[in-house]
Amino acid sequence: MFVTHLECTSCGLRHDWSRLQNLCTACGKPLFAVIDLGAVGKLDGLKPSSLRETLRAREESLWRYRELLPLPKDAEPISLGEGGTPLLPAKKFAAGLDVDLWIKDESLNPTQSFKARGMSVSVSMAKYLGAEKLAVPSAGNAGGALAAYAARAGLEAHIFMPRDTPRANIIECRELGAHVTLIDGLITDCGAEISRRKEKEGWFDMSTLKEPYRVEGKKTLGYEMAEQLNWKLPGVILYPTGGGTGLIGMWKAFDEMEKLGWIDQKRPRMFSVQASGCAPIVRAFEAGEKFAGEFANAHTVASGLRVPKAIGDFLMLKILRESNGGAIAVEDEEMIRTVREVGSAEGLFVAPEGAACFAALKKLRASEKIDSGEQVVIFNTGSGIKYLDVFKSI
Ligand SMILES: *Cc1c(COP(=O)(O)O)cnc(C)c1O
Ligand SMILES: [Zn+2]
Repeated sequence: MFVTHLECTSCGLRHDWSRLQNLCTACGKPLFAVIDLGAVGKLDGLKPSSLRETLRAREESLWRYRELLPLPKDAEPISLGEGGTPLLPAKKFAAGLDVDLWIKDESLNPTQSFKARGMSVSVSMAKYLGAEKLAVPSAGNAGGALAAYAARAGLEAHIFMPRDTPRANIIECRELGAHVTLIDGLITDCGAEISRRKEKEGWFDMSTLKEPYRVEGKKTLGYEMAEQLNWKLPGVILYPTGGGTGLIGMWKAFDEMEKLGWIDQKRPRMFSVQASGCAPIVRAFEAGEKFAGEFANAHTVASGLRVPKAIGDFLMLKILRESNGGAIAVEDEEMIRTVREVGSAEGLFVAPEGAACFAALKKLRASEKIDSGEQVVIFNTGSGIKYLDVFKSI
């Protein structure tokens, strides 16, 4: 087994990984899977350090990190070829900014966003542990990713979306065979509806950080980036932040890699980029708070960032502070303008969420929160193609 147990991120209580689990049964906070790092490689008669060298020959998907993922060796992953995305230099956009800029282009994932990473691993685990009906609230890409992997796994997907979710996301879920319910409200209202009905309906709640394995899929962002940079992490990471699984997952990956002896103790400075219309983490970071209060009247066209209250808030805030990074908000109008700037400079039609990071980079350079010459990695988490309405209206 690659995972030994689940551990609460807040109170440390241990939980059994071998049955379906949501939040900590004592304190209601997220659970992390603890990977048996001592055993990594041993199954193949390798030392952990030599496992790193064997990766090169493996498949170009996140399942190349098989021993670092929770799915038992004898179980078949539910896969559509997720991960293995390119890390591209962005020299033209960086001209004048004087930074060594790279884009991790996650729009090439199945269902065109990095949500595929989390869903591939979490749906694999849910199926292995006996779930039959999976439910998720989604204001954007999570629904499509769950629909795709549930279809692939032969499981039911129940997706709750705010009525004003981009049309492409709603259509995508339906065409992938999911049961879609539109709610007059925000993603938090969708989540509440699932909580209310899940027991009676027999749904397993796949919400961000409310089960322990989506973050395991997202942590592969960290492994992949490290491998692509020859096991040297960049100076700065800009991450468009909603629920924060990518940020939290990468940080977990860095810890695991250090324990494996694959990287040293140096960490990138992590920056959360949010929308001005929904910036709970920015607000809490600036106020020096440990938790982030709910952001009232949340609105932004970057649907992945429209998360007014995140259950992993305390984990994100800790990472931003420990890494000596920060949090910054960008106006919608700026994001939309920046989509074209990135597109015409680099040939990528990025999601507004990805564009937000490019806009944030300019601000962080202007305020000298990022120094000249630093290596910066931006995560373009999705494709602009799912947000066409946004471009028409501006
Ligand atoms: C979901 C999503 C995000 C936010 O990711 P979290 O892990 O929830 O912080 C960013 N960008 C896009 C395109 C998304 O779909
Ligand atoms: Zn707990």
